[in-house]
Amino acid sequence: RRSVYPTGFESSFSMGGKIPLGLKRKGLRIVVTGGAGFVGSHLVDRLIARGDSVIVVDNFFTGNKDNVMHHFGNPRFELIRHDVVEPLLLEVDQIYHLACPASPVHYKHNPVKTIKTNVVGTLNMLGLAKRIGARFLLTSTSEVYGDPLQHPQVETYWGNVNPIGVRSCYDEGKRTAETLTMDYHRGAGVEVRIARIFNTYGPRMCIDDGRVVSNFVAQALRKEPLTVYGDGKQTRSFQYVSDLVEGLIRLMEGEHVGPFNLGNPGEFTMLELAQVVQETIDSEAKIEFRPNTEDDPHKRKPDITKAKELLGWNPKVPLRKGLPMMVSDFRQRIFGDHKTTTT
Ligand code: NAD
Ligand code: UDP
Ligand code: UDP
Repeated sequence: RRSVYPTGFESSFSMGGKIPLGLKRKGLRIVVTGGAGFVGSHLVDRLIARGDSVIVVDNFFTGNKDNVMHHFGNPRFELIRHDVVEPLLLEVDQIYHLACPASPVHYKHNPVKTIKTNVVGTLNMLGLAKRIGARFLLTSTSEVYGDPLQHPQVETYWGNVNPIGVRSCYDEGKRTAETLTMDYHRGAGVEVRIARIFNTYGPRMCIDDGRVVSNFVAQALRKEPLTVYGDGKQTRSFQYVSDLVEGLIRLMEGEHVGPFNLGNPGEFTMLELAQVVQETIDSEAKIEFRPNTEDDPHKRKPDITKAKELLGWNPKVPLRKGLPMMVSDFRQRIFGDHKTTTT
């Protein structure tokens, strides 16, 4: 097979995405689906910085050009408006498949579209990986554990998921995406990687995506009360985005299929999170209780032993360090120049 790309670009395409030992890791062609979104855009920054060529494929449902605008004009960067539910022809070495709305408000907005994105979109990207011999990484989610009966969650736990609930389009969709990924691996020999991502926050999150960290931060900055759903005793574990990106790259480059939990084990109740936001932004911020959403998982905390041992990965940024970095980005976007992005 010959690369269809312009001369001058050293692709390892002909080696099926595998880099022989000793060769410099330069010049990979990488697709990031969902690369105009929150996590995707941070991943793109890292890949471009290390010298790779990146094609972002995004339909801008929840993503935004502003998140990747700083790469416009870079010959190693390309942005394609495309919906992954439709087939796609490209020639690349690696596929990071992130395309999928992540916030419950967004993924419940059009549940059928969400499940199509997870199932048909993932099928298409696996078909692409199979055809060109690219390595494929799926960004799955802690939601595959549902409302977990095991705590903390280990990768071997099969989960407790409602198949007909309002979150099913997302969590069952991701479970099917994992199944497809493993079946392409076993059946067609596609090199795959699976990450199960736990709640992640940081600069460039959608301001009004309804997730708890973005809600609390935006509310505190706007001098509105922090909306705690239910009794606020449910827990989540919050990971700063740079830690996640490091984990995703280590997973893609490593030799293990996974699945791997990628999350920060620091566990907080929503009331504790509200308190950290008060300490960080406004100690006078009020708390307002609201009814909780349907099928809300009661607790969530990753067991990351496997990622520590096999990927040598460990999250470095605790909530009290990460939150201020997100706050300055939100402050700029809420009160200042809307085009500013922060890394
Ligand atoms: P995001 O909503 O910011 O990004 C998703 C991106 O995918 C957006 O740019 C959106 O426009 C794009 N997209 C959605 N549907 C598409 C389609 N059909 N075709 C092409 N592009 C499409 O979300 P994020 O937080 O960056 O999440 C990225 C990935 O990580 C998702 O797959 C999500 O399920 C997973 N994940 C995220 C978290 C988290 O806390 N952020 C947790 C678990 C899993
Ligand atoms: N596909 C794609 N790009 C490619 C190769 C395949 O989008 O480069 C899509 C293809 O349209 C199909 C899916 O991926 O819907 C699965 O492809 P595969 O070859 O595995 O299955 P088949 O086409 O035989 O159903
Ligand atoms: N939540 C909250 N206030 C908000 C938004 C969310 O208390 O303004 C709660 C929500 O009920 C859930 C937790 O925060 O228990 C995390 O919600 P999020 O939507 O951020 O992510 P999830 O982990 O549910 O996908």
